[in-house]
Amino acid sequence: MTKKPKPAAGDTRTRAQKLMAAVKRGQERRWQTAIHEAGHALARVRFNLYIGNTTIVQDGNILGASSGEESWGTRKCGEIEVLVFCAGYAAVVASGIATTKAIEGCWQDFDEAVRIIEYWGLDPLAAWQQRAVKMMQQPENIRAVELIASKLTEHQMIGPDYLACLVALSDGEVSEKDFSEYLARAKSEYGREPHLI
Ligand SMILES: [Zn+2]
Repeated sequence: MTKKPKPAAGDTRTRAQKLMAAVKRGQERRWQTAIHEAGHALARVRFNLYIGNTTIVQDGNILGASSGEESWGTRKCGEIEVLVFCAGYAAVVASGIATTKAIEGCWQDFDEAVRIIEYWGLDPLAAWQQRAVKMMQQPENIRAVELIASKLTEHQMIGPDYLACLVALSDGEVSEKDFSEYLARAKSEYGREPHLI
């Protein structure tokens, strides 16, 4: 057990300033989580894989989750799945956050990726991390990740259909008007919040 560090002698911040700094850190962490989960979800969209819900609702130690297809029965599927596992980290790096910070909380993703890499004898993890960063640095992917992350921050959880529509909107495949009409129609047809569909 470690003792709490004494406040630095030069720390003249008021209690309110310290509280505000803590809130800002919390917001930054939530934004990073949203970008990370958006990265996994977008990678599944780009590879035409089945997608499930994407969430930043905290569950114990887990800050967020992106569910969907996880198949690596062939070498090719394995390569894609490794990219999907690296895409959370990669989206955070592509958003301009330092790699040392982006890597926080990614050990589980990387463990899963290494399991597939070892099974199929693929390139080392670092090579896949680089490929995923390159993919997420594509302008259309930066745009889509930002839009998904902002909607995740707003709604906490988004469903697969809504996510696919967000990506289509971000890519310019559908207009703002079409998107609003879709949301209104989805709400009346399904009787559910459209972002959960
Ligand atoms: Zn992840």
